[in-house]
Amino acid sequence: MAIARFKALELAQSRPTVPVKIPSEKVTDFYGSNTFNEEVMRSLLSPEAYLKITNAIEDGKKIDREAADEVAAAMKSWAISKGVTHYTHWFQPLTGTTAEKHDAFFDITGKGKAVEKFKGSALVQQEPDASSFPNGGIRSTFEARGYTAWDPSSPAFIMENVAGTATLCIPSVFVSYTGEALDYKTPLLKSSELIDRAATKVMNEYFNREVSKVTASVGVEQEYFLVDEALYNARPDLMMSGRTVFGHSPAKGQQLEDHYFGSIPPRVNAFMVDFELEALKLGMPVRTRHNEVAPAQFEVAPTFEEANLACDHNALLMDLMNKVASKHKMRVLFHEKPFAGINGSGKHNNWSLATNTGVNLLGPSTKPKENLRFLTFFVNTIKAVHDYADLLRASIATAGNEHRLGANEAPPAIVSIFIGTEMTRVLNDLENLSEMHDIKLEKGDNVYLRLGINKIPALLLDNTDRNRTSPFAFTGNKFEFRAVGSSANSAAPMTILNTIVANQLMQFREEVDVYLEKGIKKELAIVEVLKKYVKQSRKILFEGNGYSEEWAEEAKRRGLPNHKTTPEALKQYLDKSAIELFSKHGIFNEVEMHARYEIEIENYIKKIQIESRVAADLAINHIVSTSLKYQTQLVDNVRGQKEIGIDPQYFAPTIEIIKKISIYTSKINNLVELMTEARKEANNLENIGERAVIYSTTVKEYLEEIRYCVDKLELIVDDDEWPLPKYRELLLIR
Ligand code: ADP
Ligand code: MG
Repeated sequence: MAIARFKALELAQSRPTVPVKIPSEKVTDFYGSNTFNEEVMRSLLSPEAYLKITNAIEDGKKIDREAADEVAAAMKSWAISKGVTHYTHWFQPLTGTTAEKHDAFFDITGKGKAVEKFKGSALVQQEPDASSFPNGGIRSTFEARGYTAWDPSSPAFIMENVAGTATLCIPSVFVSYTGEALDYKTPLLKSSELIDRAATKVMNEYFNREVSKVTASVGVEQEYFLVDEALYNARPDLMMSGRTVFGHSPAKGQQLEDHYFGSIPPRVNAFMVDFELEALKLGMPVRTRHNEVAPAQFEVAPTFEEANLACDHNALLMDLMNKVASKHKMRVLFHEKPFAGINGSGKHNNWSLATNTGVNLLGPSTKPKENLRFLTFFVNTIKAVHDYADLLRASIATAGNEHRLGANEAPPAIVSIFIGTEMTRVLNDLENLSEMHDIKLEKGDNVYLRLGINKIPALLLDNTDRNRTSPFAFTGNKFEFRAVGSSANSAAPMTILNTIVANQLMQFREEVDVYLEKGIKKELAIVEVLKKYVKQSRKILFEGNGYSEEWAEEAKRRGLPNHKTTPEALKQYLDKSAIELFSKHGIFNEVEMHARYEIEIENYIKKIQIESRVAADLAINHIVSTSLKYQTQLVDNVRGQKEIGIDPQYFAPTIEIIKKISIYTSKINNLVELMTEARKEANNLENIGERAVIYSTTVKEYLEEIRYCVDKLELIVDDDEWPLPKYRELLLIR
């Protein structure tokens, strides 16, 4: 018998629900209690230091040494009072996970006396041994230094570890000694500043002098799978690559659609309540929880926040979920496609722009004047996505997401925008407006009425139709980038989106100003430019079924890019226009763009390489060996039947099975050999891009072929002997 699998099954089926202690009935009693938030700062800092740090948070002003020392001292005493023993700069290197290096507060003086120490300098900057983080060739090994620097705009927090200890985590950026960004946060912060500048200018010049700041708001809906820990541990492929490389679809998958919004199983519910409690303590506004489409698939969504905070919180939430899951003897799968043939997971990054005066610039209104403002930001976003669709595609290109994009259940690899019937009508009207010089304004005329922009329904929110198949959709008062992978760091796509929209808003201003200089009325000038943008961006607007074959063909006719593979998509980072765009705005310089390309492409190669190795190992050492053993039993059986004179017609089907096992096992042996050869050849290639292409084509094709044979064998070989937990077991036991 396949002992490991059955032991795991037994364990998984007998798990009790882990009880969860709720600290208080009222969330307000503990919300943010593990963060060094405004309230704590106000109570612990002198008014001067408090002011300095508030300025740093709001306007990015530098904090002087004195104030930093005071903040550090306050942080230390606050943390120690909560049982914290260590501190760390918490950052997001390009590995895709978060990084920490814990230092003790505790120190020894020269005289051997123990003291608790944490200076402003340690708060502000640290030098982790950075040589083991990806850098895309930026740092040569002899200059393997980098530093992390405190980001005061994201509150420090306490992460509870196992065994009751806890660490003070200080959100930080991570840069090389030569100043290049080595993380996700640095460019995001730069892009937030950029869009603030660009959008505030547009507001001030055309709509409202009072606005002094515009922030990008982001709300990240996070999908994930949950499987029992014992079953997970019995699947080396899940453990090593995050996805199953083999597994036949279960008889009951998602076809009954009974899981979506169904009741949440008790063990899962306990896990959700638990991680949400911890998230709330860390000041993350988690709100919704529900089942997703596939069995064992779920979603969590917090309320939207300022982009930097939202992206930090999403990364932290993923960390937290991993930790809490292990307490509940479960594993969270953030992989975009852990199970072939079953719905994949993504993030939906909801994005909008908000002014410091409390206005959502992507929210339509009942007032015509405000609607011109809305249309301005709405159309400019569409134009930006139209012009830089390639970059958005590149920002979400990974090995995991490649399985999902273009598969028949996720937004396709073609970037298009869905805006709903109402907004389609509004844009049609706008485009069909007569030329500006034909609009004769009489004294007392209502310019908005004449322009036809008095007709936008105020409550789009309720009547925007939903189109689940669109990778980029307008949903009433925000755009939703849905093609982001579930394991991604949200900051990467948000950096791109902020940058391209900011760039577009700057261009918009230049074009409007040309008309203004000619003495044309402001409203008419704005409408004229928007009208042109609608015309120019037409081809990216698509309201139909994004999953259909017809759309792929239609998109091709329209000339929209369709980069199906990761290496193809990532190449856009090296495009001259992309490098120009990012260096012009100081988001990435050319060196950083190349580094990012290299890191992402290297990640890609490594991931497929791991999958390929683990698949080869499982195929040969688990599947082929088990299948041959079973085949021997069948051969013995047939021989026995013959011996006692059974009519051959009755064991002919068994002989067929024996043959099939021979066919599939020999195929697997050959394919594994060929796949290993292909990897070798690829690895010998000097050019990393070319290497990645071999992985994305030849190696992946072998993986698919091997999988086909293994999945066939799963249907033949005695269930008692099958070594790997099956899909039905992974997905339905909880
Ligand atoms: P859905 O119907 O798509 O699930 P929800 O209203 O539940 O939409 O919102 C999904 C996510 O979008 C949440 O994280 C929510 O906070 C966020 N969101 C709502 N409004 C905005 C906005 N103006 N800007 C950015 N994110 C938003
Ligand atoms: Mg949504």
